[in-house]
Amino acid sequence: MSDAADRDVVVVGGGPAGCAAAVFAARDGLDVAVFDRGRSSLARCAHLENYPGFPAGIDVGTLADLMRAQAERAGCAVVVDLVESVERSEADGERSGVDTDGREAEGFVVTPQEGAPVTARRVIAATRYDGEYLRGLGDDDAMFEVHDHAGETHEHFDREYADRDGTTPVDGLYVASPSDADRQAITAAGRGARVGKRVVADARVDDGWWPAAAERVDWVRRDAELDDEWADRDRWAEWFDAEHADGPVDPDSERFARVREAAVDAARSAYVDADEEEARAAAGHRALAAHLDPEAVVDAHGTDALLDAMDDEAVATYAAGDGPNAGPVEEGTR
Ligand SMILES: Cc1cc2nc3c(=O)[nH]c(=O)nc-3n(C[C@H](O)[C@H](O)[C@H](O)COP(=O)(O)OP(=O)(O)OC[C@H]3O[C@@H](n4cnc5c(N)ncnc54)[C@H](O)[C@@H]3O)c2cc1C
Repeated sequence: MSDAADRDVVVVGGGPAGCAAAVFAARDGLDVAVFDRGRSSLARCAHLENYPGFPAGIDVGTLADLMRAQAERAGCAVVVDLVESVERSEADGERSGVDTDGREAEGFVVTPQEGAPVTARRVIAATRYDGEYLRGLGDDDAMFEVHDHAGETHEHFDREYADRDGTTPVDGLYVASPSDADRQAITAAGRGARVGKRVVADARVDDGWWPAAAERVDWVRRDAELDDEWADRDRWAEWFDAEHADGPVDPDSERFARVREAAVDAARSAYVDADEEEARAAAGHRALAAHLDPEAVVDAHGTDALLDAMDDEAVATYAAGDGPNAGPVEEGTR
């Protein structure tokens, strides 16, 4: 993270677009805060039935909780507050951004309704219904479009203001939503993921990487897929050298060596062994189960299956009326 800014990235909006962007950014080690409050398109869906992974659909309250929990698990801070403005930080003021190499980095001051202002190197807007807080940051005429409706003039954030990867004419400002992908939840999430990946690549370039090396694929892979030769770290370094020998940075430079180390670390950390794969599967089920209605779990699995899965002692304690959920027992009624 930059020495000066509070956060590498502030995401405004914790819907499908914002949570996807935040997770991709945080998973590469960026320090991310998600501000989330205010008008939500997702909250207006009666039941979401076309989002992959939910055979009978999902209520949007549960989906919102799951998305938020995933962002937090990825390392994001989720702040329940409405962003009122995003402004450029003063170039010479105490809020100016300076990156780790001492270069001046342009940043932003994000001012929420209730909490203290937060500085960030990058801001991702992910608010389908809102863009007002960006007013004045760039060219308002380009950012907002005007149209007439029923004799009245309205202004809306221009869905085509940002490129497909979220980049905008304002350095460091990205827009995941509103966009031409924001009319369906899954396409909004896809757009958010694309923007999160762009932010990761741009942050790496700030840190001395060059574009061809900076693009990241966020995969988790089985180490059983690797031949023995890849057990050796030097093999990874050779691979990196072969990929980038003709790139824009001198392969004998300290910068090349530093980026190679980081790239090799990142590539190797994507692999997990069978035990870790199993542990992550179990953690995934537990995290999901925490959001399910217990009665639905009993219905789906049946009482016998659930009792079988429970610790015998816990069942006996509960049956005896001594468990934490046991109600008061009157004398002589056991
Ligand atoms: C009635 C209705 C039904 C729909 N049904 C479906 C459907 O069945 N299937 C489908 O795929 N899509 C459906 N959609 C569309 C779906 O809701 C959107 O595609 C999706 O929610 C867009 O995601 P988003 O992240 O861009 O925006 P949003 O879902 O709007 O998320 C934005 C988030 O940002 C927060 N926020 C807003 N302003 C600020 C601010 N200033 N500061 C901080 N936080 C802020 C909001 O509280 C919200 O949590 C429906 C939409 C509506 C209106």
